[in-house]
Amino acid sequence: MDIKKKKKICILGSTGSIGTQTLQVIEEHPDLFEAYVLTAHSQADLLITQAKKYRPSAVVIADESRYEYVREALADEPIQVYAGADALCQVVQMEPVDVVLTALVGFAGLRPTLSAIEAGKPIALANKETLVVAGELVTRKCMEYRVPILPVDSEHSAIFQSLMGEQSPIEKIILTASGGPFRTFTPSQLKDVTPAMALKHPNWDMGAKITIDSASMMNKGFEVIEARWLFDVEPAQIQVVVHPQSIVHSAVQFQDGAVKAQLGAPDMRVPIQLALSYPERLESTFPRIDWWDMKDLTFERPDLNKFRCLQMAYEAIRMGGNAACIVNAANEVVNLAFRQERCPFLEMANIIEQTLQKMAHQENLNLDDYLACDAEARQVADSFIRRL
Ligand code: NAD
Ligand code: MG
Repeated sequence: MDIKKKKKICILGSTGSIGTQTLQVIEEHPDLFEAYVLTAHSQADLLITQAKKYRPSAVVIADESRYEYVREALADEPIQVYAGADALCQVVQMEPVDVVLTALVGFAGLRPTLSAIEAGKPIALANKETLVVAGELVTRKCMEYRVPILPVDSEHSAIFQSLMGEQSPIEKIILTASGGPFRTFTPSQLKDVTPAMALKHPNWDMGAKITIDSASMMNKGFEVIEARWLFDVEPAQIQVVVHPQSIVHSAVQFQDGAVKAQLGAPDMRVPIQLALSYPERLESTFPRIDWWDMKDLTFERPDLNKFRCLQMAYEAIRMGGNAACIVNAANEVVNLAFRQERCPFLEMANIIEQTLQKMAHQENLNLDDYLACDAEARQVADSFIRRL
């Protein structure tokens, strides 16, 4: 890395779990990294605090009703303030931006990510939903504009690290999963789980949406799809292995049977930092594994009958076209409904499945097709929830 020139980072979703940890990484290396753009959905106060502390060139508040509030609070600062979803697509293209870290949640990541790719900006990708929804379009655009995607998701970073220095084909990816808080629950126990129970993840402290996805294992299903696009492998080459301790972050098996894995304490700042510093590794003060303290490392088969969302992700890849976009949209609807106690835990998989069955299959989608498919699938999923 050119040490004279600081990398200017645009963080989409700087107020969230990944966003705030990205700012911690920047703070560890003030000589190397600079927060150039910060964006948030509606957490205006935190965005203002961050802007005053990190002094970016621009901020975006996606929720336009909060624009005046943010603009007034930053009136004395040399910071441009924008609002709205379209502004996200514009700031990612700002000339000085060196890398766009996508830490916003859900389908909302798709348009700004495509916009960044079209401006030739490298992507540090946390927003997995973008690849789930439109992996085909996004990877095609990356080839066209010669834009790299550096994975932030811990499993995909582990796979990426296991592939460093390798030219030989992948035989199999071993995608590890913690199994979430309900790993040992019986189906009858799962029937009655509450949002509060699901929001307590055993190993990771994450945003609410991904925490619920982890409890239903939809997150692992999405990670299968994400791995399929990032590493160009067939679904049958991706084996999900439940590893409750979250120390082995994932692994790659090669043609000679050798397996390379990446291990570490569960801390997202490690993959975030690598995505920003690649191909170099930088020093860090983050926790290390204490090998004497390490209890058993265990590995189990995932229960696909209990965690049907994981099975559905494999089905969505098999179907191709708009199937994963439908699954993602329906999941966003049921995930929120579950958090608001409008949808029981086990109904989430049923509604996603029913939405997938009801919608027409479509191939070769462009951005407008994805936007239309997402909107329609949300309506369909919502109508199933209202019938509960
Ligand atoms: P979070 O809910 O903590 O934060 C989300 C951020 O996105 C916030 O800054 C919010 O203001 C912004 N945002 C939300 N909706 C938006 C919208 N419609 N328009 C613009 N901005 C919006 O989420 P998180 O846990 O940080 O996760 C972010 C992404 O990273 C997700 O795609 C998630 O799957 C992925 N990820 C997270 C983790 C983790 O440890 N948290 C790990 C791997 C991958
Ligand atoms: Mg992950």
